[in-house]
Amino acid sequence: MTLELLHEPKMADLTSLGIGGTARALAKVRDEAALDQLALFHERESAGLIAIGEGSNMLASDGKLNLAFVHVDLAKKIKPEISGLTVRVSADTRLPGLLAFLIRNGLSGMEGLAGIPGSVGGSIAMNAGSYGTDIAASLKRVRLWTPDKGLFWKNADEMSFGYRHFSPKTNEFTLIWEAEFLLKSSTESEVKNKVQEVFSKKKSTQPVLEKTAGCVFKNPEGFSAGKILDEAGFKGKTLGGMAFSEVHANFLVNKGQGTGTEALELINMATQAVLNKSGVILETEVIILQ
Ligand SMILES: Cc1cc2nc3c(=O)[nH]c(=O)nc-3n(C[C@H](O)[C@H](O)[C@H](O)COP(=O)(O)OP(=O)(O)OC[C@H]3O[C@@H](n4cnc5c(N)ncnc54)[C@H](O)[C@@H]3O)c2cc1C
Repeated sequence: MTLELLHEPKMADLTSLGIGGTARALAKVRDEAALDQLALFHERESAGLIAIGEGSNMLASDGKLNLAFVHVDLAKKIKPEISGLTVRVSADTRLPGLLAFLIRNGLSGMEGLAGIPGSVGGSIAMNAGSYGTDIAASLKRVRLWTPDKGLFWKNADEMSFGYRHFSPKTNEFTLIWEAEFLLKSSTESEVKNKVQEVFSKKKSTQPVLEKTAGCVFKNPEGFSAGKILDEAGFKGKTLGGMAFSEVHANFLVNKGQGTGTEALELINMATQAVLNKSGVILETEVIILQ
């Protein structure tokens, strides 16, 4: 039964953007039995308790954050399991790993998610997607954990999903533990070609190899946030060690020594400038932790 506890973890180590101060604590759930201990951790830390996956959609501010994190990180990794066209996957499986598995098994439906670096748990929680598809499109059911109910399955149609939005329709802290996806039968080469096509497109239009947290802002209805930011002069806009990418204006890049304060200042500047120039209210997609 292992719940690994870390005190004052550095947010830079927990997030792909690599910035920010420290959190109160991090609880790593290393096996299913540790969920009993997690219930106690939840009792102690419930104020400001947040799940974290790969931290690839999070922006942490500087200083001491009054937050505690729960991270599913099984000591014994569970391989995805196939039953017919259904694939069962643990929340800590990385999305690129799942896609590689689907390629090998000729299962189609999630190719549009190529190039998204998060965990399965985080990707469901964000309803991650791109190029007209999202993870909810293939989701059959999710095994959730809550402190009161423990583990239980919930069908996708009993929860709510939208653009970068997911709600498990529970009213307490909810951890995604595993999920089942319903795929379509295809061939290894077809799935591989589609995945490569999506990935190449992303590589040529997004700074996929730099330290970022994906898109900073949601696309406002009918607009591209990247285009609006570009038009407002924010492509390449730099403040200290942080910059809006030269490749895609909707990505904030940590140039090496960036800070949360600089990142938040750039976001404020961009939001204000876009509002003044085009009257559009930009809403952040990245989760801001402060
Ligand atoms: C280079 C790059 C490209 C990207 N491209 C895309 C893209 O094309 N489309 C897209 O949608 N996103 C994209 N992203 C953003 C990010 O990769 C996705 O949102 C991803 O799905 C987040 O997964 P994560 O594990 O990193 O989640 P985290 O960032 O760790 O967390 C995100 C949210 O999920 C919650 N969460 C995490 N794990 C769990 C869990 N087990 N149970 C309950 N809640 C949980 C967190 O509390 C938080 O609210 C990109 C990011 C980068 C760095």
